[in-house]
Amino acid sequence: MEFYTNQSQNMFIEAQNFLAGGVGSGTRSPSSGWIPSPLYVDRGEGSILWDVDGNRYVDYLMACGALILGHRPKAVIERVVETLQKRGSIFALAHDLEIEASKKICQAFPSVEKVRFDNSGTDAVQRAIRLSRAYTGKLKIVRFEGHYHGWSDQVHWSNHFPLEIAGQREAPIPIPNSKGIPEILAQTLIVLPWNDVDLLEKTIKKHKDEIACVITEPILGNTGGIMPRKGYLEAMRELTAENEIVLIFDEVLTGFRVAYGGVQNLCNIRPDLTTMAKAMAAGFPAAAVGGKSEIMDLIPKGEVMYGGTYNSNSIVTSAVSATLDELSRSGVYEEMNRRGKKLANGLVEIAHRKGLPASWSGVGTMFQLWFCEADRLPQDYRESVPLQKSSPFPILWQGLLERGVLVQPKQDNLFLMSAAHTDEDIDYSLQEAEDAMPT
Ligand code: PMP
Repeated sequence: MEFYTNQSQNMFIEAQNFLAGGVGSGTRSPSSGWIPSPLYVDRGEGSILWDVDGNRYVDYLMACGALILGHRPKAVIERVVETLQKRGSIFALAHDLEIEASKKICQAFPSVEKVRFDNSGTDAVQRAIRLSRAYTGKLKIVRFEGHYHGWSDQVHWSNHFPLEIAGQREAPIPIPNSKGIPEILAQTLIVLPWNDVDLLEKTIKKHKDEIACVITEPILGNTGGIMPRKGYLEAMRELTAENEIVLIFDEVLTGFRVAYGGVQNLCNIRPDLTTMAKAMAAGFPAAAVGGKSEIMDLIPKGEVMYGGTYNSNSIVTSAVSATLDELSRSGVYEEMNRRGKKLANGLVEIAHRKGLPASWSGVGTMFQLWFCEADRLPQDYRESVPLQKSSPFPILWQGLLERGVLVQPKQDNLFLMSAAHTDEDIDYSLQEAEDAMPT
């Protein structure tokens, strides 16, 4: 199969005249590794995506994790179309579809007694932080290096940054991820490296009267699928509970991806608040924050404002219900995880055969390949940086792209699977990886 990007390149030139940077989000741009130009998409179906040049790919982007059922999942599309045709897209009034969807979410997450909807993960995180501050009467947010909680001014700090400017590991300097973020907000943040109980304990003891919340991705999806050390999340739960600090699990990526009801269901930990989005609505723009009634009830009490024209509209709530009906069928996660592990293990074996050290981090449906042995896998963002700098991953990425296997160019991201990926897709991907793997 020949690989061309002529049409994408032409569209990129045209798009830049009207669309700032030629793309709708930074993760699709050349600065995120999409070179020589972003890929312009024609269509997707199941696990497969076609670009405007006619290249066909097995898609492991899955729209940054949203497409848990693959492209155009029939059951979800049909439910949404029916709602649109028979009911309407949005009422900005209450309706039964939001009751149905919220009930399903509360049943999925044992820690979630009540929920409210949002339109993006960024929104949901904002609400969770406001709820935490209102509940505790405290100001500061503890967030971890390498984690991503959306692009808002409050938390878009210390995601991925040059180590030279980040200060000592024991006392990181908060780094804003964009110009335009007020520097003064650094005073509302405590940034820590992840996976370090001692440092977390020391920080909480010292600042417990100022800290409103600790927010964490429970599996570090935004830095290559780094797993929590044994006991780390449990310790985080204990330390926050003992010190009247709200624990927020940001399960925007992991929520209905790693298991029905997220990482918290896998590890049996109950955070106070959970943010969720992406896989929850199989590609429709739904997000939510949910948690303890005691905290969520600050909304109906009128203490915390929670507005939004588009919140829990009929399109997205239909999509949530239809998606959760599909995901709650028995065996869905077992199959997805089995196939994901088959791909991850297969890639590691190929790398080993070529004489490269390799292992993978994450879980079946979201993982990253690292060019190191398992005992050297990064445990936090700082450890991931030198590994990425010396990594042959860009060569593998390019080779896979040209052979019809689509993954994110940067190793901070992940291979993301869906229920639509078949054993044939995995076999094809591994066969192509034999040729694409650097030696
Ligand atoms: N939190 C996490 C863990 C995420 O992965 C993301 C998106 N990648 C967000 C928040 C922000 O979500 P959104 O892009 O929908 O604003």
